[in-house]
Amino acid sequence: MSRRVPLGSTAADLDAAIAAFVGELGDVAVVTDGDALLEFRDPYTYRESDEFDASAMVMPTSTEQVQAVVRIANEHGVPLWTFSQGRNNTYGGPAPRLRGCVLVNLRAMNRVLEIEQELAYAVVEPGVRWFDLFDALQDAGGGLWPSIPDLGWGSVVGNSLEYGIGYMPHGDHASHVCGMEVVLPDGSLLRTGMGAISGAKAWHVYPHGFGPSVEGLFKQSSLGIVTRLGVWLMPRPECYASCWVRVSGYEQLAEVVDVLRSLMLDRIVENHPMITRGLEVDADGNPYLDPMSETWHGRFALYGSADLIDAYHRVVEARLAHIDGAEVGRRNFDGDDGDGPSNHDERVQRGIPDMDFLDERLLPYGPRTGHLDFSPVGRCLGREVVELQKLVRSLYEKAGHPHVGGICLAPRSALCITTTFYDTTNQAQTERVYAAYSEMVREVARHGYVPYRTNLQNMDVVADQLDFGDHALRRLHEAIKDALDPKGVMAPGKQGVWPAGRRDR
Ligand SMILES: Cc1cc2nc3c(=O)[nH]c(=O)nc-3n(C[C@H](O)[C@H](O)[C@H](O)COP(=O)(O)OP(=O)(O)OC[C@H]3O[C@@H](n4cnc5c(N)ncnc54)[C@H](O)[C@@H]3O)c2cc1C
Repeated sequence: MSRRVPLGSTAADLDAAIAAFVGELGDVAVVTDGDALLEFRDPYTYRESDEFDASAMVMPTSTEQVQAVVRIANEHGVPLWTFSQGRNNTYGGPAPRLRGCVLVNLRAMNRVLEIEQELAYAVVEPGVRWFDLFDALQDAGGGLWPSIPDLGWGSVVGNSLEYGIGYMPHGDHASHVCGMEVVLPDGSLLRTGMGAISGAKAWHVYPHGFGPSVEGLFKQSSLGIVTRLGVWLMPRPECYASCWVRVSGYEQLAEVVDVLRSLMLDRIVENHPMITRGLEVDADGNPYLDPMSETWHGRFALYGSADLIDAYHRVVEARLAHIDGAEVGRRNFDGDDGDGPSNHDERVQRGIPDMDFLDERLLPYGPRTGHLDFSPVGRCLGREVVELQKLVRSLYEKAGHPHVGGICLAPRSALCITTTFYDTTNQAQTERVYAAYSEMVREVARHGYVPYRTNLQNMDVVADQLDFGDHALRRLHEAIKDALDPKGVMAPGKQGVWPAGRRDR
């Protein structure tokens, strides 16, 4: 495979940068072999596509090395694309938006730097996976629980920066980040919030700072490389109960959403409930696909003392009781019973990571299966959730794709998460799926909805929909980008934000 030179750079720039990377990091930490780089393609685009190929990959092991990489990139005008674990599957995996970027692979920076038991937080480097954080917390006595996404192999940092979702009370991961260390596009180092003072005491406990808060600038961002992050955790409760509700029909779905909203606002249900259709669970609670099913399966959890959970559950049952045909149930666990949860729903609500969601029962095309998630954000009102479901389902029908959907609830918002499955070795099918996705983005935008994350192919499409004030948000993003990253070396095109030099590509 010939080396991919990024648009706006020359082959000589790239060669000079690679030589400098080798000089700084050593040759084992710099990968240029085309075959080795194939592993870092987006796993869910057409297998043979080179559209998002990287030119090289560097693997720094320290913040200082990350700074050196960024300075070299500036010196030679070569763009970078960072990943922490690179498991951002369905949104591009480790691959760059702009072909030819040099990947900055942070998997080797994988230390859990601190676990603060009394204040319930941890400080991690970017390569720390959910599995690693869980193990470190268990080794430290198991008194703190992480919130985790459905797959345990991703990184705490990458997932949290992308507004990732878990299913515990602190499941809005981006909101439970507190205190970052960031390498800026000129290679200098910043500590956010209370970390801005040397010898900071309150860096990972107070989320704001003195003056305008800048942490948001580094989420879904092309303005920095995060090299350490504070993450808030949950103290182990005495008990928890993994609960479920099952209904059929849209009217009943709306009622379930309204009841769960009331339970969340009343702080009885504190985690993020998930309601799925087309993703069933068997008698043992293990998930399998059944796109023809008309049953809505909701899962949520209760946390606290045994007495409290019994009292909460009585309220839950009373509020769900009036819904026609609703089946409600729960399984109780002691907080320290790590071996108790026997299926994914129970584990993910207790912060025990697994890989069940890549089980072969969920892969209609076997290892060739691609997933494309389409996830517009709506309001947590039963009638509006149903409207959005019907709209998205009609778009799936129009595209000829089976509809498998989930709704992830927060007290005020509802993420409508839907997935298309396809064969990544079938070019025509894969291209049809991505084209249909772009159409779905445009259609839901006409109704006032926007996805909360998206894949490489559709970052510009989603950004194009944000048209308020004649694209005022884009102008602000671009002004900040150009001020902080005048050479445009950091993640060009991420979330549709292009640096000046590559804007007319
Ligand atoms: C079956 C399935 C189930 C899934 N379930 C969930 C789920 O429950 N919840 C959920 O949130 N997601 C889910 N995902 C999506 C995705 O797999 C996860 O979010 C995953 O954790 C992201 O990968 P990562 O953590 O390795 O991030 P990375 O790939 O490392 O990073 C993601 C992006 O963040 C940015 N980034 C990463 N590191 C840095 C850094 N150090 N500095 C600056 N920017 C950085 C980059 O733009 C990068 O592309 C699922 C996907 C699949 C296929």
